[in-house]
Amino acid sequence: MTDYDKLFIGGEWRQPAGTDRLVVHNPANGEVIGSTPEGTGADIDAAVAAARSALQTGAWADASAADRSEIMGRIYNLIIERSDDLANLITAEVGAPLLFSHFGQVGATGMVLDYFTKLTAEFEFEQVRQDMLGPVIVRKEPVGVVGGIVPWNVPLFVMMLKLAPTLASGSTMVLKPAPETPLSAFAFADICIEAGLPPGVLNIVPAGREVGEALVRHDGVDKISFTGSTDAGRKIGAICGENLRRCTLELGGKSAAIILDDANLDAIMPELLSAAVMNNGQACVAQTRILASRNRYDEVVDALTEAVGAMVVGDPASFETGVGPLISERQRERVEGYIDIGKNEGARITTGGARPDGLDAGWFVEPTVFADVDNTMRIAQEEIFGPVLATIAYDDPADAVRIANESNYGLSGSVWCSDVDAGVEVARGVRTGTYSINSFAMAWGAPFGGFKDSGIGRELGPEGLEEFLEFKTINLPAGTEPTLKY
Ligand code: NAD
Repeated sequence: MTDYDKLFIGGEWRQPAGTDRLVVHNPANGEVIGSTPEGTGADIDAAVAAARSALQTGAWADASAADRSEIMGRIYNLIIERSDDLANLITAEVGAPLLFSHFGQVGATGMVLDYFTKLTAEFEFEQVRQDMLGPVIVRKEPVGVVGGIVPWNVPLFVMMLKLAPTLASGSTMVLKPAPETPLSAFAFADICIEAGLPPGVLNIVPAGREVGEALVRHDGVDKISFTGSTDAGRKIGAICGENLRRCTLELGGKSAAIILDDANLDAIMPELLSAAVMNNGQACVAQTRILASRNRYDEVVDALTEAVGAMVVGDPASFETGVGPLISERQRERVEGYIDIGKNEGARITTGGARPDGLDAGWFVEPTVFADVDNTMRIAQEEIFGPVLATIAYDDPADAVRIANESNYGLSGSVWCSDVDAGVEVARGVRTGTYSINSFAMAWGAPFGGFKDSGIGRELGPEGLEEFLEFKTINLPAGTEPTLKY
């Protein structure tokens, strides 16, 4: 049991303004595993003030890129050193299967930080260009105080997608973790203290949406970086629009995995399963629409049914488990609601659809495959955020691309095939921000983000860093040779 009685503000554990608490339950058995104070608007004020002051003292923004990179490297080393503890904590907090907690949650968090640590050391924060009237310095300055708002499903990883470029840019951050997952955020605060991150560069105030909105509206915030549902993203984007506040929105998805006729089903199935139901299906990038040609539809449905039906459902703390519980009772009700919707829409369940036997204490639902799904059905159009797959038949690859694109979302997608060139052609036709062939992958050095209702802006790669920089042009007298500063 881990109980915190303070918030992480200004580099220290500080008394919260209110008395309400966030109680964290292990979704696998409902037991209480810890608690933290629930932040209030007054705590957000204090955290923004600390972040602003850290920005103005220059301890971070004016440190050389090499110095910033060195501290980021120390944080990385501590993440690696504590990866077992962090993975166990995330499994207890989120219900993520332990193997996924190691690689998809903590391992990926470390890799993202490592990428930005190296990028910081080599990035050109100032460049000189020769223009018509003389040389010009193009300078990339920190965006300022960033409000980072993250969901519960991959809490440290999503935080790092925002924090690493914040640190790289010389900006500072107020992080609002989701109320379901404050413990991993606070375990990370300890790492920052030990790594010597200057006070106020990162401040953490866990709370719900109302307090999140106070952060979005706060006059002391220069940019909001949000990951979460499309509904919340719309609201946050509107507030940022009114206030002309920079914002990046990483939102939901309903990605399609297109299985071409030359795919070897046995070979692709393990990777396809993990792409489809990773993190118990609670992943924005999950490949939840499975598109198979009419020629092979029955064969694909049978293979998928067998593979999903054989997945080990149970204690996420075991390395053998493929599917753990959903985050909360409310989330299970939502997923079960969609299973009912699918049945009422006329789709056919080929495996799953109920609660697994003998797992009554936690918020489990069986991994479920629907066949005979039409792409216009709600189970094909709406994000379920659980281990529920919809298999849809297509006529030919062009029809598959059409179906994949008939979605309000545009986050991710995949194609499964033997002829990689044919796969790349499919990838070119699908309007999503990320696409993979015979896998689901994220590339740390390349942009990640959504088309359409899946968001605005990009994370990762140099493009992801530039979202945390303001560009400034300094015109110089002709013939000057400036000394650049990093
Ligand atoms: P959510 O939108 O309910 O909440 C996400 C975070 O935003 C939480 O911290 C919440 O407290 C806060 N929040 C909610 N409404 C807010 C508001 N009006 N103002 C300020 N803060 C607000 O989402 P969730 O249920 O926690 O997470 C699941 C969603 O996140 C799914 O839709 C999923 O697809 C999406 N997601 C997207 C990505 C991505 O990179 N595109 C990654 C992970 C999750």
